[in-house]
Amino acid sequence: MSLDVRALREQFPILAQEIDGNPLVYLDNAATTQKPQAVLDAIMAFYTQCNANVHRGAHALSDEATRRYEKARDSVAHFIHANSREEVIWTSGTTEGLNIVANGIAQRLQEGDEVMVTQMEHHADLVTWQQACTRSRAILKVVPIHDNGALDIQAFEDMLSGRTRLVALPHVSNALGTVNPIKKLAALAKQKGALVVIDGAQGIAHGGVDVQDIGCDFYAFSGHKLFGPTGIGVLWGRGSVLEDWPVWQTGGEMIARVSYEASTWGALPNRLEAGTPNIAGAIGMAAAIDWFSKLDLEAVQSHEKQLLASATEQAMAFDGLKIIGSAPDKIGVLSFIIDGSHPADVGFILDRQGIAIRTGDHCAQPLMRRLGVPGTARASFSLYNTLDEVDSLFRALKKAQMMLA
Ligand SMILES: *Cc1c(COP(=O)(O)O)cnc(C)c1O
Repeated sequence: MSLDVRALREQFPILAQEIDGNPLVYLDNAATTQKPQAVLDAIMAFYTQCNANVHRGAHALSDEATRRYEKARDSVAHFIHANSREEVIWTSGTTEGLNIVANGIAQRLQEGDEVMVTQMEHHADLVTWQQACTRSRAILKVVPIHDNGALDIQAFEDMLSGRTRLVALPHVSNALGTVNPIKKLAALAKQKGALVVIDGAQGIAHGGVDVQDIGCDFYAFSGHKLFGPTGIGVLWGRGSVLEDWPVWQTGGEMIARVSYEASTWGALPNRLEAGTPNIAGAIGMAAAIDWFSKLDLEAVQSHEKQLLASATEQAMAFDGLKIIGSAPDKIGVLSFIIDGSHPADVGFILDRQGIAIRTGDHCAQPLMRRLGVPGTARASFSLYNTLDEVDSLFRALKKAQMMLA
């Protein structure tokens, strides 16, 4: 089973360019993925064929825009195995999805209640709960990780209590690549009656996600890390939980009846989607999902595993390079530091050679402190990367090491 990576790459026009005379090697996929032609075409088709506002027009363009927009919701529902399309709430991205949940829970938490997160949290999944806890005088508990970047499952279990109202954790860590056993963790949290929120920003693009099978209550993700556009994302919520979830924003589209004195709210999903939505974004995101779903997902996973294996092997053989994060279950993220040099300088020298990586704290400052590093350089792989590109990365790193010595 193998992936025709060459044919895949041809569907991504952006990858064919050179940077300062070097072929572009794009290894910043955990920050955002590139978009295949099918996604660009779907967005262009919307604007050239049926741009209109949705749900309100009494005309042909609006009907067609509404049809494509609501069909996009069906694609998402099908892709993540939602129970119904009403469980799919359009957001601007993972961050907004998590904020919708945090805003709601903050209204229900009582003093002394507990919210649990992990040490590997992205700021979007940490600061949000911090704020919710501060507002309601609840207690934020942080589950530790092991030095290799894997979650301490025993500690997770021990820290759950009868007061745990909500557990939030990433499906996959963006900084380390650690894959969390979310199904098992969700089951433990559910035994205590806690709500379970999964930050799926990284998890969504590396295999099939089945929200029913995971057993969580919310799963949030972004279009742009799944080969779709920026500014669009999805919050999936279990129907029974979403049903009376506090409204988040108010305005057009989310109401049932409005008078000067008071208003009542409409039904899901619109109740949680005030205002004109990102119509083109939703259509583009669904095009990305349709495109991704047609791939042989097992072949994709095995290709990404190969990329990570090659990168890890070369990293281990590289004198003066330290891998940050080596949990047994990882997706294609290689975070590292090179002795005696700052990650930002490494990133700069790589960029001169056409190689795009990310450096810094990866929106996880407390995690960097926990690991005792100022930040890392991070190469993150996607299905269109090649083993040759991994080799280019290490050739460039050798140069960087020499220049910075
Ligand atoms: C990218 C990312 C987020 C935030 O996603 P946005 O698209 O910026 O809203 C949250 N958590 C993780 C793990 C991420 O990788």
